[in-house]
Amino acid sequence: MIIGVTGGKGGTGKSFFAVNLAVALAKKGARVVLLDCDPDSPSDHILISAERKNKKEVRCLIPIFDEDKCVKCGACVKSCQYNALFQLPGKVPQLMEPICNGCTACILTCPYGAITKGSKIVGWTYESEKHGLRMISGELKPSEPLSEKIVNEIKKNGEKEKADFVIVDTAAGAHCNVVAALDGCEKAYVITEPTPFGISDLEVIIEVLGKLKIPYEIVVNRSDITDKKIENTKFEIPYDRKIIDSYVKGIPLVLYDEEHPVSKMFYKLAEEMMK
Ligand code: SF4
Ligand code: SF4
Repeated sequence: MIIGVTGGKGGTGKSFFAVNLAVALAKKGARVVLLDCDPDSPSDHILISAERKNKKEVRCLIPIFDEDKCVKCGACVKSCQYNALFQLPGKVPQLMEPICNGCTACILTCPYGAITKGSKIVGWTYESEKHGLRMISGELKPSEPLSEKIVNEIKKNGEKEKADFVIVDTAAGAHCNVVAALDGCEKAYVITEPTPFGISDLEVIIEVLGKLKIPYEIVVNRSDITDKKIENTKFEIPYDRKIIDSYVKGIPLVLYDEEHPVSKMFYKLAEEMMK
């Protein structure tokens, strides 16, 4: 089963929920893969004090122009929907590399075979093992904008794993890499907090999940910091010093204090999911 853990707003506790659910499932005997699909700001490995190993490059195709074959017709420039090519009169087209997403349209368009496939590094993926679970994470190369390429690579690597549960921890927001991470999830937990910002961003991510046809349940973290109640809440996690301590120590709460009410909630949820 592929389960997304998401939430429009940053800092609501998505990674806390994803990590503790994954570890609780693993403790109950399930084979679990945790995918940290936030390559702009990966943090799951820090929450579980896991070492990132097996660094692999993620590459993106870019066009390479052969100046001897190019007749400067401009057809490739017109074919680029992303405006990643520009051409001065009578010159070979130039690539604005950060904008190119490797779609290959220009290569297919050139009637003279003057463009070949090159590639550039856009980031890296890593693998980790800790507390009985496998983890795949990624990191976007600074200055590169193509974080969904890393997310797609993390998910591709995750699909190769033989797992009972794949937990997909998305980035904040509702942009391309969040949609790429959620695509294919069978269910999602939406983590929010009872603040005006949290509620506003909750509405946005619920709309995205509706468009992707993914059923979801709402989890309100730090539920007692205001009196605001959010409709259809499945779980409430109160603000608690012990949860902060578990962050600081890099030990998931479900291991740091198995008898804590929130740990018991995760173990009960894990048992229900394994039925
Ligand atoms: S590969 Fe696609 S995005 Fe990149 S320059 Fe060619 S047409 Fe444009
Ligand atoms: S389509 Fe081919 S020949 Fe025409 S400008 Fe582009 S690279 Fe040159």
